Amino acid sequence: MYDIIIIGAGPAGMTAALYAKRANKKVLVLEALNYGGQIINTVDIENYPTQEHISGYDFATKLYNQITELGVEIIEEKVISIENLKDYKKVNTKNNIYKAKAIIIATGTDNRKLNIENEDKFIGKGISYCATCDGSFYKNKNVCVVGGGNTALEEAIYLSNICNTVYLIHRRDKFRADQILIDKLNSISNIKLVLNATINKLNGNEKLDSIDILSNNKIDTISTDALFIAIGKIPMNDIFKDIIEIDEYGYIVSDKLCHTNIPGIFVAGDIREKSLRQLVTATSDGALAATEAVKYINQ
Ligand code: NAP
Repeated sequence: MYDIIIIGAGPAGMTAALYAKRANKKVLVLEALNYGGQIINTVDIENYPTQEHISGYDFATKLYNQITELGVEIIEEKVISIENLKDYKKVNTKNNIYKAKAIIIATGTDNRKLNIENEDKFIGKGISYCATCDGSFYKNKNVCVVGGGNTALEEAIYLSNICNTVYLIHRRDKFRADQILIDKLNSISNIKLVLNATINKLNGNEKLDSIDILSNNKIDTISTDALFIAIGKIPMNDIFKDIIEIDEYGYIVSDKLCHTNIPGIFVAGDIREKSLRQLVTATSDGALAATEAVKYINQ
């Protein structure tokens, strides 16, 4: 029986493991793929306190080394379900059943992708899914944002303060974003709207240099240094959505101390309902969730 099982080895899960292990608990981290989560794809992090520049890979590897040197056990296995029993919790993978006194869910989100040619090839070389993370690399450049929801509009507005021209490309002529954001967007002169348009092709050799837009049966090419894809996130909630309360968008509802609706099950990181999904908020959640899990066990 473990004290705490953490599901997900991204920054939130690994920070939770750090805090739980330092509180002398027996900790297991279960991760379906590699450690690191989404941050592993970030070329350069420059908004984490004390780190002027660090790659996502280096950040995740340092954290991974820090927790494994402390003795945290990490197993690469995909969790398929969790159960809340009277005296303990059960975590089921395809081949094993693990038991714990408490669980921290840190499964994160996945970016919804356009699923067009070269999208994966240009990630970190012009393609980004996070303007707050990568916008400053494109100071005074021309960039594109695709999407018509709150995230796309917020990203376009954010980038308009950094970049020369921001093209906002949307597949319809109506945004689904809140009116207040639409009004703000319309008041900014360096945001150009490209409506009723879909992205047909991503061009470039080593990095993205232009995109082909299909609109009114006509292809136009926009020269751009970056394309920020903001067409939604996919919360990774499959394994627990039947027992844990989630909001209308699929994120876990919690109180400010990362407690879910089930005592002894905590949440940390991007899978949690919150307003800012960043590395710094993920690690903060991890510390909080672990501290609360330790308190729960000790009681
Ligand atoms: P979203 O609301 O689901 O919007 C996704 C947008 O991407 C939609 O405009 C959609 O177009 C477009 N889209 C989806 N798939 C596409 C594809 N394959 N190709 C081109 N366009 C595609 O996602 P979100 O903006 O990330 O927001 C997620 C949730 O968080 C929303 O409920 C949002 O309100 C909330 N949120 C709130 C705030 C805030 O309150 N400040 C900030 C960010 C997000 P269609 O419109 O044509 O479907």
